[in-house]
Order: sequence, then structure tokens, then C-alpha cells
Amino acid sequence: MKAGVVIAVDLGGTNLRLGAIDAAGRVLVRARARMGPHRRKRTLLEEICSRIRHFEREARACGRIEAVSLGFAGYTDAERGLIYFAPNLGGLGNIDVGPYLGKRLELPVFVDNDANCAAIGEYFKGAGRSVHSLFVFTLGTGVGGGFVVKGDIWRGAHGTAGEIGHTIVMAGGPRCTCGNRGCLEAFTSATAIVREYRRRKRGRGAGVRVKPAGKAGRGKAGVLGATAGELTARRVADLARHGDRAALGALDYAAKGLGIGIANIFNLLDPELILIGGGVSRAGSVLLKPAIQEARSIIYPPLAPRLRVKRAALGDDAALIGAARLAFAALKNR
Ligand SMILES: [Zn+2]
Repeated sequence: MKAGVVIAVDLGGTNLRLGAIDAAGRVLVRARARMGPHRRKRTLLEEICSRIRHFEREARACGRIEAVSLGFAGYTDAERGLIYFAPNLGGLGNIDVGPYLGKRLELPVFVDNDANCAAIGEYFKGAGRSVHSLFVFTLGTGVGGGFVVKGDIWRGAHGTAGEIGHTIVMAGGPRCTCGNRGCLEAFTSATAIVREYRRRKRGRGAGVRVKPAGKAGRGKAGVLGATAGELTARRVADLARHGDRAALGALDYAAKGLGIGIANIFNLLDPELILIGGGVSRAGSVLLKPAIQEARSIIYPPLAPRLRVKRAALGDDAALIGAARLAFAALKNR
């Protein structure tokens, strides 16, 4: 008899990835789909459900399906299987995705934040193996984070610990999708890098002009994503490697925010290792080198030599592997 598999789902702002994963963390088969824009919870839930159903046949060929485990880019309640708020999916909130999918698919369903899943994935199979404590930054359409201590996610009192993307790295700085100003996400997400590059190309110089604080509105940058038009953060990184001044400036600006974020995490939590993952981390040294330099220059000085920062190892599979790992662990404890 074949061993069991978990269908892991990584639901981001624009894409949905699926994987059938065994208990050893091997991705046996994977698929990917582009998510349509949704203004209503019901249509969003129906699309997620039908994508999983389409994938079930392929997954079943790999083994008995034990559960579905969904990593989601937003605030989640892992205990109740709830998405509190989805800034990159039209700002929908209070989505009962766990109970809905459980009923429709007749399987146990687990829900967690995608960065938590990525952190567990890296701890289990990636660059964070065998460390005591690990903080993972995920730099994508938005910015997330997950903190793992001795193999467990630290979730905090309300399940939302680790949301590094909405910590402030510049008071009064650029507007974030959450409505606040100066969040890390408004510096180092793919969306922010593209926006900063365009600003510099238009000849407006460095940084973001700060307007007087007005009514806090939700920006549309996260909804549009970094792929709006032809330009992507990956393209900006390529341009930077070829010496484009505006692109280098945009990545330096992103690195400054990231460096402050890394320093804050290190001062606060003292993790043994910090990993940088997500699509934006593919920019490589053009982003990470100045970010680590910035972090070292502002960390509480006696601690600076202890800082260890690396690129995450699992790429797009991190959240899938972590989501599956969380599901296998939960099933075992039932
Ligand atoms: Zn924010």
C-alpha cells in the first residue's frame, strides 16, 4: 500500500500552487494556477475548491490523500481554519476556508499563514535544518515572516506573530497596502521595488516623498502585484546587475528597509539563523549584501558578530513542504 500524502496549497496574491507531499517532505507532483480576481468570498472559496478537486486525481496516484493543508498570504487563525484578512485578495476578510473545504472535500483541512509554512519547510528540509531557532523573511508580492523555535512555530496570543512585513522601518515612510506608512512591505516587497524603480526612472530622485498624513486608504499596489505591466521585481534586479542606476537605487532602497527589519528581528528575538526567501530573494547579492551590511551597522553592537543571514533554500516549495509538515504533525496528534 502506498504511503499517505497531503495536498499542500500555497495561495498567494496572484497564484495558487499545489503539491502532493509525503511525510518525508518530498514533493511528488505539483501544479500551478493563476487566481482570478475575487470581490466575494463565495467565488474565491469555490475557485480554491475546484482547483484542489482538479488536482486530487494526480495526488491520488501518489498515495492516499490524508489531508489538505493551505498556506495563505494573510492573517490566519490556524485553530479555526479562518482567514482573518486577505490584503492581496481584494481585502476580503473572515473567510471560513477550513470548514468550507472540509465539508466539500470530506478531508481534514488545515490553514496557516504562508510565511509560517515556509519557515517550517526551511526548518524541516531546507537551509534551517538543525538550528535551534530560525526566523524566515518571505519577500514576494507582500512581505511575511515566520519564527520557529525547536521545530514549532511561535504564533503569539492571536495567531499573528511574525508579521514582519507590517513593522515600521521608517516613520511616515511610503504608504503600505495595510493603510499605514513606512512598513517593511512598502520597501522590500516586489510591488515596492517596482514602484521605487519607476519613481527613479521618472527622475524624482531617491526615496519617497512623504505627504502630510491624510486619510488612511488601502493602496492598490498589492492587488495589482509586481507583474502589473511588463515590469517585475525580477526585471529590476536584472537591470541592477547590468548597472542601471535607477534599478540599483531601487534595490539599495529596498535593502535599507530589509536591513532595518533584520536588525530589529535580531535585537528582539536573537534567532540562531535568519533566512531570506520568497521570489524577491532571487535578486541575490545585489539586494542581500547591502541589507546585511545595513543590519550589521545598526544591530546592538555587542551582538553584531553573531548575526547569521542566508538565502532560503527551497524556493517556491518551502510553503508547500511546510504546510504538509504541519498537517502530518497535526494528524499524528489527533
Ligand atoms: Zn503595512
